[in-house]
Amino acid sequence: MNKRVAVIGAGWAGLAAAVTLAERGAEVAVYEAARHVGGRARRVEIRGKALDNGQHILVGAYHETLRLMRQVGVDPEQMLLRLPLQLVMADGFRLRGYGLSPPLDGLLALATARGLRLAQRWRAILFALRLQRSGFRLPQDEPLAALLERHGQDGALRQALWGPLCVAALNTRVEEASAQVFLHVLRDTLHGGRGASDLLLPRASLGALFPEPAVRYVAERNGAVHEGKAIRRIERSGDRYVLDGEVYDAVIVATGAQHAADLLPEGCETVRAQIEALDFQPIYTCYLQYEAHVRLPFPMLGFRYGLLQWVFDRGTLDGHQGLIAAVISARGPHEALSNEELANAASATLQEVLGHPGAPQWHRVIAEKRATFACRPGLERPDNETPLPGLYLAGDYTRSDYPGTIEAAVRSGIRAAALCLA
Ligand SMILES: Cc1cc2nc3c(=O)[nH]c(=O)nc-3n(C[C@H](O)[C@H](O)[C@H](O)COP(=O)(O)OP(=O)(O)OC[C@H]3O[C@@H](n4cnc5c(N)ncnc54)[C@H](O)[C@@H]3O)c2cc1C
Repeated sequence: MNKRVAVIGAGWAGLAAAVTLAERGAEVAVYEAARHVGGRARRVEIRGKALDNGQHILVGAYHETLRLMRQVGVDPEQMLLRLPLQLVMADGFRLRGYGLSPPLDGLLALATARGLRLAQRWRAILFALRLQRSGFRLPQDEPLAALLERHGQDGALRQALWGPLCVAALNTRVEEASAQVFLHVLRDTLHGGRGASDLLLPRASLGALFPEPAVRYVAERNGAVHEGKAIRRIERSGDRYVLDGEVYDAVIVATGAQHAADLLPEGCETVRAQIEALDFQPIYTCYLQYEAHVRLPFPMLGFRYGLLQWVFDRGTLDGHQGLIAAVISARGPHEALSNEELANAASATLQEVLGHPGAPQWHRVIAEKRATFACRPGLERPDNETPLPGLYLAGDYTRSDYPGTIEAAVRSGIRAAALCLA
């Protein structure tokens, strides 16, 4: 008989698990508390436009995410704008890849970076070569800032290159970010094979990239996705589980970490303690609607000073002409500002970049207070397996090489499904 499996949470981890289970013939029921699937990477409607709760950057190294997108019928090459490694700052700093094989491409990008002095470029190349020689492994994890300092990666190297990359990848500032996890990201992007360091920017709302087609995929394979259905309790019945009056052979808890801790039944105290030790970092997104002709000089532009870190041109990306999305990641003084103050600050920064386009017609701030876990050195992340047979965890926060990202969530979902089926 086919296994009956319940998945709690229809974020990217839960849906990756559900797709994997449905593909392998399990009978899957997914429960999602919200009225829409996608979790922290979801479609939101603003003024009749299909937008996102936050701007998401994928990279060529997201192999499992790209594979599952294809599996549910989405063509990544059509739905994602692929740009060879590019880091473009509003103040003129620019690093770009040439589409060569690694490690040559990364080294050449550093050698030709605009906005760095010759000595700085040379120091960055030496650092990259040292990392490569070490296999991107540190004897002991430490804050990235300490590693950078030891290797002379200060000044513009830290402000324009490593700092922004670290916040973009780990959503944690260099002072407190795990150097080891950052090196895993560098290993898989700069040394992960041709195309691994390409930026993949969504050309449609996030829901269309995977969550919504995944729901259809599961439904077509004898599964069900119940939206607007929060699970409050997981009860045990012998070696099976009861959720909402239904009996299941196995359960995958694919909620965000904070909700998982509340749901875990007796017998999971050590896992709960690990989850409760996690701390979270915010991401704020401010949408600013200008007149339709207003455009950024590049689809994704960075700032090394001030409040904003990245701005995205939604007109270029998915046809929302004149719409700019400004992003502020990780902890910082901006958390004390009201939405109105944030929008005014974003608009003031954009004035110069956009050639004084006037005030935006409207703005909307979306604050994701627990966007990802804080990716600190030596963090003990919980495993997919819990002490209870048939009960598994999935989510971007479970044990992984990766920070809290879509790829970490997807890999975690696939692993939890494999454990269920083993
Ligand atoms: C603004 C923002 C920007 C980001 N940018 C990037 C980026 O550029 N690149 C990148 O790779 N990653 C990015 N991330 C991180 C990425 O979105 C997350 O790592 C990923 O979406 C986490 O997926 P998940 O499935 O693990 O968890 P979640 O998305 O949190 O999914 C959990 C789901 O469980 C549901 N749930 C909770 N409790 C219950 C319950 N009791 N019953 C039923 N359902 C429940 C929730 O509603 C939710 O849908 C960003 C995140 C944010 C917020």
